[in-house]
Parts: sequence; structure tokens; C-alpha cells
Amino acid sequence: MTPVSEKPPGFFLMAEQPAHAVGLYVPEAAQGVCNRRSLLIAGAGLITGSLLTPQVQAAGTAHHTTGQAITGQTLHAPAIIGKARPALPLVMLDPGHGGKDPGAIGYTGTYEKYVAEAAAIELRQQLLATGRYRVAMTRTSDHFVPLDGRVELAQQHGASLFISMHADALHNAGVRGASVYTHSHGASDSQTADLAKTENSADRYGGPLVQGASPEVQQILASLVTEEARRGSAHMASAVVATFQSRINLLPHPHRHAAFAVLKSAQIPSVLVEMGFMSNRMDEAALRQAGHRAMVAGAMCTAVNRYFTSAGVGLAG
Ligand SMILES: [Zn+2]
Repeated sequence: MTPVSEKPPGFFLMAEQPAHAVGLYVPEAAQGVCNRRSLLIAGAGLITGSLLTPQVQAAGTAHHTTGQAITGQTLHAPAIIGKARPALPLVMLDPGHGGKDPGAIGYTGTYEKYVAEAAAIELRQQLLATGRYRVAMTRTSDHFVPLDGRVELAQQHGASLFISMHADALHNAGVRGASVYTHSHGASDSQTADLAKTENSADRYGGPLVQGASPEVQQILASLVTEEARRGSAHMASAVVATFQSRINLLPHPHRHAAFAVLKSAQIPSVLVEMGFMSNRMDEAALRQAGHRAMVAGAMCTAVNRYFTSAGVGLAG
């Protein structure tokens, strides 16, 4: 349905290998304790410029001559022309489903996975055109990515915002309209409780700054990050609703809470947008149209702009 580009080699380099294995310099004291996310944050401007290209794309950033992985022992920083400036915030787009998982199948046979992918690619183009963000995607072709892997990618790339895009099906075929979901706060189920336990004992939250802190302090820092991510998620959901209101048909009470596994990042503000429902003939017909998807992406792009320009939203991943 939509032309898709092949996944460039090296896309999962950062996700699958420790930094030192691909030639990134890791201070000796930090080896073994410094996670990949903190490395990304520490060297965002340099690292993202070389290793994440072209999967992570940015408009208006300095251009580097190579996107090849570094294989030697010596690391030279790539030349940056012009004034150094902080890395643009990274928005991670997550088209739902893919590969063996088609997602919902519409009344006339449309696969949700294709709609999600096409809409995400459109949104990526619109976000890049603003010159304000770098954009990465959990998938850019029709292949399966496990839910945990999607969250993991966002964390390892140091994303500032995670947006999962769907068009699922409901039992009631009469229900139509867009909606936005955030993860419900607190241990709503045993899986979430287990996750919180693991997260609170991990050193991933603050990177090197947390090391050496007592378990109590680490737990406080972890809960702060979680609260910040929760607030950010709610803020982004509000921005989506406000922006959609005048342009896209919405469900009643369009901001809803649910325990979506893909929204369980404790660190990154995350929302899941249902652009409409495949179970509804009108929604399905609309989402098959590139013009409608561009309108949805346009509304989401405006929501992202609102989110990042609002007070209290930092640029750090
Ligand atoms: Zn879905």
C-alpha cells in the first residue's frame, strides 16, 4: 500500500551492542556501569550525528561525512561546522504492529500495520520539516518488533517523547473517532509492580550521576523521573486532544488511560494515538486516504510543537 524503505544496516547497532563494542570511547571508570542511554545523552551531538544517521534524521543539524560504524580503537570526533549547539530533542515514532502482526483488519480488508506505518512516515516528514527535532522510528518497514523492544529502542536512543500510532478495532463497529492513551499511574497490575521493582533497583535512570547513591536515594530519583514522565505523557495527551479538537473527529472523553505495554517507559513521556478505528467503515475509508493521514499527522505535529514549547518540558532525553 505504501512504499517503504529498507531498514538501513546499522539501525540496531546501538540497540544490540554495548557502546565500546562499536568503537565508542567509554571512560574506564564508567565501563560496565555507564548505560548506553547515558552515553547517548553525554555525547548526543557527536554520537547521534554519526551512528544514528540515517535512521535518526534531523533537519538543520551539522552534516557529517560518514554514517559508517567505527571499527578502530581511536575515536576522532567528527568535524562540526558552525557553532556548537545542544542536540535537538529526539521524537521516537512507533507505528503499531508490523510483519506477522497485521494489527486490526478493516471492514474492507485494510491492515492497521500499513496505515500506522504510512501515517508515522508522514508525521516524520512533517516533524523534520520544522527543523526542531530529530526523529527516529521503531520500524520503517513491514517487520515485527516486540513491544518491549519498542520501548527499549526509545530508551537507548535517548528519546524525549514516544508516540505510538495505531488504528485498532472495537467490538462496536459504530464507534468512530480518534483518541489518545496514556499509561495508568501506579501498580495497576502485577506486571507493572514487577516492572517498578526492577526499575527502582536499576542504575539506568540517572546514568553516572546516580552511581554511588544509596538505594533510598536511587529510589527517590527513580520515582521523580517516573513522575516527570507521567506528567509529560498527560501533557502531551492534552496537546493532542486540543489540537485534534478542531480538525479531527474525536471519541467522547478522548484522553483515556490504559495499561498498554508499549507505554510503560518510566523515563520517557509516552502516548498512544488511535487515529481512528479499523472497525468503523468511515474511519477505515478516511485512513486509507493519504490526504486524511496528512491531516492527522499535521494535527499531531502541532501537538508536538505545543508540547515542546510549553513551560516545564525539558529537552533532555
Ligand atoms: Zn494497534
